[in-house]
Amino acid sequence: MQAYTGCSRAVATVNGTAALHVALLLAGVKPGELVVTQSLTFVATCNAIAYCGATPAFVDVDRETLGLSPRALDAWLEQVAERGDDGLCRLREDGRIIRACLPMHTFGHPVALVDLVRVCERWGLVLVEDAAESLGSYYRGQHTGTFGELGTLSFNGNKVITTGGGGMILARDETMGSRAKHLTTTAKRAHPYEYVHDEVGYNYRLPNINAALGCAQLEQLDGFLAAKRVLAEAYRAELEGNEAGLQFVVEPEGCRSNYWLNAVVCQDLAQRDALLKGTNEAGVMTRPIWALMNRLPAYTGCPRGDLANAEWLEARVVNLPSSVPVQETA
Ligand SMILES: *Cc1c(COP(=O)(O)O)cnc(C)c1O
Repeated sequence: MQAYTGCSRAVATVNGTAALHVALLLAGVKPGELVVTQSLTFVATCNAIAYCGATPAFVDVDRETLGLSPRALDAWLEQVAERGDDGLCRLREDGRIIRACLPMHTFGHPVALVDLVRVCERWGLVLVEDAAESLGSYYRGQHTGTFGELGTLSFNGNKVITTGGGGMILARDETMGSRAKHLTTTAKRAHPYEYVHDEVGYNYRLPNINAALGCAQLEQLDGFLAAKRVLAEAYRAELEGNEAGLQFVVEPEGCRSNYWLNAVVCQDLAQRDALLKGTNEAGVMTRPIWALMNRLPAYTGCPRGDLANAEWLEARVVNLPSSVPVQETA
């Protein structure tokens, strides 16, 4: 996975959520701090923030990428935050530290990474990428999950490749990678036979059996990605200029998406509901995009900026069947 993604160090974990949890700890996220993320994401993104004792702060997404908007991030920070002489970013209102930024590459479509890196640098935020859905997705030729200090992948059963359950931390530098390995394997000091643990570590290691499955899946990754592109292109061609006005979601400019989960944007909520009902009644499983995180009981009170695009997409996006057809084995 190091060779495939081009990161310095890849550390396997028991699942993608655990990878996110440890990545955020390594980013320095502490109890009482804030981590900026998008409200349009899978709940694991926010849960990992909560596991650190931190609170998510929600900013808007871009309609083209479905992911965190660098412009919305910069605008929200301008409005509510300041960067102190110590280089740290704080909420002006109560002085809470905004430690990190956690964008998610929705359905495998990369967020505007170069702009996002710039905004994070400007405000002193550590960039951690939730690349759970974007294995095989590239932004200007560079693999997603390798732009930030840390990135994470998931090998859950529904992802591009699976280990049954599993995940991975991608570290940009070797030291951070070693820390990831240490923290995810009970913080045991390396020794041939002694059992000494030098901090509170986690039992987040990926079992060998799952890892073996991952090795076999990795051999098939290019084939899966090719098949997903063929499927996405078929949807795109079929839906081009359709009378209903459904817009097929395509990879952002300068990006190569893995098309993990295909999606259409409906014209309005009524059309979305009709599409969901019609397809599911006909035995074709479609689903709406996630309810926004700021609507969930655990995250209603969190700080947030304007979420107009997220709300717009929440009412319109429908996912289409995206499984890769069964491959002929050699
Ligand atoms: C799948 C996924 C995860 C991690 O899920 P696990 O089931 O814990 O491997 C995290 N974030 C997003 C956006 C995901 O889609």
